[in-house]
Amino acid sequence: MSEPCIITVAITGSVPRKEHNPAVPITVSEQVDSTHEAFEAGATLAHCHVRNDDGSTTSDPDKFAALMDGLKKHCPGMIIQLSTGGRSGSGRERGGMLPLKPDMASLSTGSVNFPTRIYENSQELIDWLAAEMMAYDIKPEIEVFDLSMLFKAVEMSEAGTLPKPLHVQFVMGVKNAMPADREVFDFYVRTLQRIAPDATWTGAGVARHQLAVNHWSLELGGHCRTGLEDNIRWDGTRLAASNAELVKRVADLCGEYDRHPASVAEARTLLHLPARA
Ligand code: ZN
Repeated sequence: MSEPCIITVAITGSVPRKEHNPAVPITVSEQVDSTHEAFEAGATLAHCHVRNDDGSTTSDPDKFAALMDGLKKHCPGMIIQLSTGGRSGSGRERGGMLPLKPDMASLSTGSVNFPTRIYENSQELIDWLAAEMMAYDIKPEIEVFDLSMLFKAVEMSEAGTLPKPLHVQFVMGVKNAMPADREVFDFYVRTLQRIAPDATWTGAGVARHQLAVNHWSLELGGHCRTGLEDNIRWDGTRLAASNAELVKRVADLCGEYDRHPASVAEARTLLHLPARA
């Protein structure tokens, strides 16, 4: 029996529309349709931002609530992960939707340079977001843009301020942050297995590195992220036609590594999330 691979689809992101693939879904109904196609293609985890109609990102909890309703109706059991990052507000605004109790939420445990700004995560904000996630029984996905963030997350889980077991995502290829470097990737995975042996992990490569990191993750037994959020124009990547196309690309690769796209039930079991009807 092959090992399941959870395919995350990052459907929209927070990059302004003019810089982005026009296929990126903007309105809630476009996002629900696009996620549904990706779900049918094999994705079981949706990483979500919400946008205003002009394409700018927002942290409006009402929009997040509408998106969650649509996804629950059209993608039964799919794991819903809301982003606390991006450009969706400043400080605690970024966690204003956590009372909606999504299955998961993203959490960066440190700061890093991004293409045109600083992705700023003070320890005070990290502690607050982590406490909110614990209070609402939301599983964090730790976004690791640099090695220190991995150690911080493990330290917090040992101290009981983040839940165990951790789920970590290694993000590579963001301009001005950690490049997609195979030896560093291997070291990340080895280090995680050494300091948090019960943790699960996903690899995410941005722009032209998306496919390479999908291959590396399948090879090393991790899970895969794809989607239009990471498939961006400024790095000269081919513009994908849809989220479903990108998910299908990963689903088709699984067999090469004796893996298969996880079912909803498998994905929930792997991440220790409750089964949902
Ligand atoms: Zn995101």
